[in-house]
Amino acid sequence: MLFQRQDSNESYEAMRWHMVDRQIVARGVRDERVLEAMRQVPRHEFVDPHYWDVAYTDHPLPIAGGQTISQPYIVAYMSELLAVRASDRVLEIGTGCGYQTAILACLAAEVYSVEYLQELSAQAEERLKKYVNVHLKVGNGWEGWIEHAPYDRILVTCAADHIPEYLLNQLSEGGRVVIPMGENSQRLVIFTKRGEDYIQDDDIAVRFVPMVDSD
Ligand code: SAH
Repeated sequence: MLFQRQDSNESYEAMRWHMVDRQIVARGVRDERVLEAMRQVPRHEFVDPHYWDVAYTDHPLPIAGGQTISQPYIVAYMSELLAVRASDRVLEIGTGCGYQTAILACLAAEVYSVEYLQELSAQAEERLKKYVNVHLKVGNGWEGWIEHAPYDRILVTCAADHIPEYLLNQLSEGGRVVIPMGENSQRLVIFTKRGEDYIQDDDIAVRFVPMVDSD
């Protein structure tokens, strides 16, 4: 059966193609660059070996620090919503295990990612070594990462109860933020910068861990 423990990289690749067809294309994601990144990045290597045999199933998975890595479809869907261009500089808040960071690294020119928990950031750094366009730091994502601003795209992978002002301020003209918002019930929200204004569009319902330590 396809989802029993597999030992060769070839089997993992087959599982990835299957994951993309059945979970991601089947639900309407069409961006070819996103689909290609999802076929390329070895998701199993970002989780504990204990979970390798279920790394390509249609579920979120536990990672260190009591956090979770999103279901593959949600990673693909958010990456499509972000509409990353090859020349973009992207800021991610919530590195977690680094899987979404790796997907962004395939899509963008440079990826800056901030993680609150030192343990997770250290593990992600190890896993992301071969992605030379990825830059990580431990810090509070509410503040963004001012040294490398402005960003063309900002992706937040933890849920906020209000939009962090610092993130809007670190966006380039025409830039876009995708962020899960809400407490008990959450939605993905897209903010697009147009001059002094930010256009807000609400999208699908989601479930993310909360963004800690707000201002
Ligand atoms: N994209 C991640 C998802 C991890 S879950 C992945 O693919 O694995 C969300 C992450 O956001 C957790 O690792 C959590 O520690 C982190 N987080 C929560 N609040 C934060 C904050 N204020 N600043 C930075 N990271 C935060």
